[in-house]
Amino acid sequence: MAKNTQAFVTEITPRSEDFSRWYLDVVRRAELADYSPVKGCMVIRPYGYAIWELIQQAFDREFKKTGHVNAYFPLFIPESLLNKEAEHVEGFAPQVAYVTHGGGEELEEKLVVRPTSEAIIGTMYAKWVQSWRDLPILINQWANVVRWEKVTRPFLRTTEFLWQEGHTAHETEAEAEAETMKILHLYKDTVETEMAVPVVEGRKSESEKFAGALRTYSIEALMGDGRALQAGTSHNLGQNFAKAFDITFQARDKSVQHVWGTSWGMTTRLVGATIMVHGDDSGLVLPPRVAPYQVVIVPIARDNWRETVLPKAQDIQRALAAAGIRVTLDERDERPGWKFAEWELRGVPLRLEIGPKDIEKSAVLIARRDTREKQSVPMDGLPARVRGLLDEVQRNLFERALQFREEHTQRVDSYGAFRQAMDGRPGFIIAPWCGVAACETAIKNDTQATIRNMPLNGVAPSGTCIRCDAPATTEAWFAKAY
Ligand SMILES: [Zn+2]
Repeated sequence: MAKNTQAFVTEITPRSEDFSRWYLDVVRRAELADYSPVKGCMVIRPYGYAIWELIQQAFDREFKKTGHVNAYFPLFIPESLLNKEAEHVEGFAPQVAYVTHGGGEELEEKLVVRPTSEAIIGTMYAKWVQSWRDLPILINQWANVVRWEKVTRPFLRTTEFLWQEGHTAHETEAEAEAETMKILHLYKDTVETEMAVPVVEGRKSESEKFAGALRTYSIEALMGDGRALQAGTSHNLGQNFAKAFDITFQARDKSVQHVWGTSWGMTTRLVGATIMVHGDDSGLVLPPRVAPYQVVIVPIARDNWRETVLPKAQDIQRALAAAGIRVTLDERDERPGWKFAEWELRGVPLRLEIGPKDIEKSAVLIARRDTREKQSVPMDGLPARVRGLLDEVQRNLFERALQFREEHTQRVDSYGAFRQAMDGRPGFIIAPWCGVAACETAIKNDTQATIRNMPLNGVAPSGTCIRCDAPATTEAWFAKAY
């Protein structure tokens, strides 16, 4: 047990020195995830999984509030089903894993390990939908998917990951579009409220849209190193999948029509976003709403502390837990300084210290992880005070992240300035664009920056495209992205 505070700190690469290294150090040292024997696949450890569960539960509540229900579809999809929607199969082909053998025999038809479930769900909807009375269908599933990746990074990009995929079917195009937008806004609100991560909503360009969709919308967040991260997508599928999978219904006017579909997803990536937006050189900084422990109580271990201080600490733990606060008590025989460093590394929003002197004063010392401020708080009315502080931390983290994004979002008026800015990691650049894919590709080749999305209801800006001098048709948010 010869660990000490210094060892903790030196094991995390400073963010400013190497952000990518810092991220991996935090993931490993805070025991969020580990590498597995399968290349590109990660093991989510209990502390990382607890963060995911809180994110998952928050989204699940919101989906249900808006009338969605959960179901579960198989992991395997017959190859022929995936091949039905041409654009879809082309988009996913490079990333698909197949099962060729089962039960010791070669399968007659290869099975795809789902990269997404439009094909299997569309097949089922074709059976379930007959009349307009069967619509809308508002189903979500929580599942794992597999997309073979060459370069992986825990939570951000792994061959297998956890997600939710919503799949809905509607009578009209307008209803499908309304659903697509409803979910986009739900994603934005939930990510901002729960994870304190500000996001930009917008529409994806043709080259970045989901394979087989009519239109894709996304929320995009800015990480602490100035790179953008796509944090959720909502797709209006039009009638593409309905036509490929023959999902028809008898309409109110008795005509036979294809349904209008949507699909939408968010993933374990959001754990990565939470780490990269809020973390610092001491490790994780967790927003209280997704923190497995919102408070850690550290008794100051002196003399006969197990008889004097510990009972008081246990009383406090019970009182906070009874008030619905997620709290843990660290009664290990380690030096307080060592414990402080460990819980800072794990990002616990509030640390509550209690020793003989605090008990004399009938108070505790509370340290905030986000600002490192310390204050003595009376034991009387402690749960309400802690609840108030947690709300303050949550709010402060969001405001800090928003300020960071605003400081790292700029407009430029020439391609020279654009290229110069993108030489580093400036964050977002908002610039006018002509809407032509070849121009977008040229910008990517020149600068590695991609169009993250384009503002909703964006009016065409006056003037010309940032690169090609053709008339601009839209503004776009550009960034280098994960
Ligand atoms: Zn252009």
